Amino acid sequence: MHCPFCGNSDSRVTDSRDSDEGIRRRRECLSCGARFTTYERIYASSLMLVKRDGRREEFSRDKLMAGIRLACARRPLPTGVIEKIVDDIESQVVASGKSEIPSHVIGEAAMDRLKEVDRVAYIRFASVYRDFEDLESFQEMLETLSKGEDPASKAQLALFKDALALDAEKKPRRGRRPGSPARPGAEKR
Ligand SMILES: [Zn+2]
Repeated sequence: MHCPFCGNSDSRVTDSRDSDEGIRRRRECLSCGARFTTYERIYASSLMLVKRDGRREEFSRDKLMAGIRLACARRPLPTGVIEKIVDDIESQVVASGKSEIPSHVIGEAAMDRLKEVDRVAYIRFASVYRDFEDLESFQEMLETLSKGEDPASKAQLALFKDALALDAEKKPRRGRRPGSPARPGAEKR
């Protein structure tokens, strides 16, 4: 921890206490005598997501990445965009200094970012995500899908396929329009 005034790295802790922002420490620079405050924060790897029903689960960068990757499948995105989105969301969460965060905050942050980079990926993510209670349910579905067929998840799978179909509809070279399917998910809530 460098002194913000002289840059010296030796300081003495004069006081230490818990606060909402983390562990607050008063320090005194051993070189110039300046006093400053530091906060020790919880890293995102131990961040807990609070689901709507009150259950908690550890934030998983990998799960978030998997959900966003699936939404972006076969989309012409520059390399590194998905990692950047996940990095940004993770650092936002870390910067908040909270140890618990509602899971929908993460899902909404992902939707906001996808909206900026790719409309189709955004629609895929949003139309599936919004039909579930929260990102957790979405992730559970992704896991089920990746494991193989589970009859219980058929309705959810159909929804996701509808979301993918939006992608196909956008391709301009079709001579005839398909019958107008209801737009999945878009108008809910
Ligand atoms: Zn100093």
